[in-house]
Amino acid sequence: MRELIFATHNEHKAIEIQAILSDSFRVLTLDQAGITDDIPEEQDSLEGNAIQKARFVYARLGLNCFADDTGLEVRALGGEPGVYSARFAELSGGRLPGEDVSAANIRTLLRRMDGIGDRGAGFRTVIALIIDGKEFTFEGVVEGEILGELRGEGGFGYDPVFLPEGYAETFAEMSLEGKNKISHRARAVNKLVEFLHNYAGS
Ligand code: IMP
Repeated sequence: MRELIFATHNEHKAIEIQAILSDSFRVLTLDQAGITDDIPEEQDSLEGNAIQKARFVYARLGLNCFADDTGLEVRALGGEPGVYSARFAELSGGRLPGEDVSAANIRTLLRRMDGIGDRGAGFRTVIALIIDGKEFTFEGVVEGEILGELRGEGGFGYDPVFLPEGYAETFAEMSLEGKNKISHRARAVNKLVEFLHNYAGS
């Protein structure tokens, strides 16, 4: 069985991908591969960050590996917060006392969209793979709109204000299973998995 290092410290993400990949590849997290430090994410695009993280791991270990990066791209904001989604509030106004990061990010987003009619937005995930020294990227997108108020308790990040196109529930109102069927991350992972199955079979 071939091993693939996933440039993440999040074991949960790795287990999810392992479940889709079945047994042709074994996915290891950074910690399982002996890397405990943070991986640099200094680029100004999702592609740039995914590639930077994969190259970092490849340079350290010389092993087949992949990395992901995700952002919420809001049309009326010219694609913001995009690559800065995790730090949106921190970069524009900060957090209120006692407020958690996601609540502050959502508050920042709704404030920026106040009075804007075009609510179109999409989540985009980019995965960069380095296998046998060659680089490949895969993209997953889910389109939708940003609501004016929060709905639902599930999910994380911007889920309570994101209504995927063609659905009546926000990501935070969906079951995890329901979200995972249509999410940006699932779409990118499915492309990676399809590529790896063909690659393993070729
Ligand atoms: P990451 O690249 O997966 O760490 O995602 C970066 C940031 O994008 C997160 O900190 C969240 O703010 C946001 N994000 C990523 N995926 C999702 C999602 O599925 N729902 C809501 N927000 C997300």
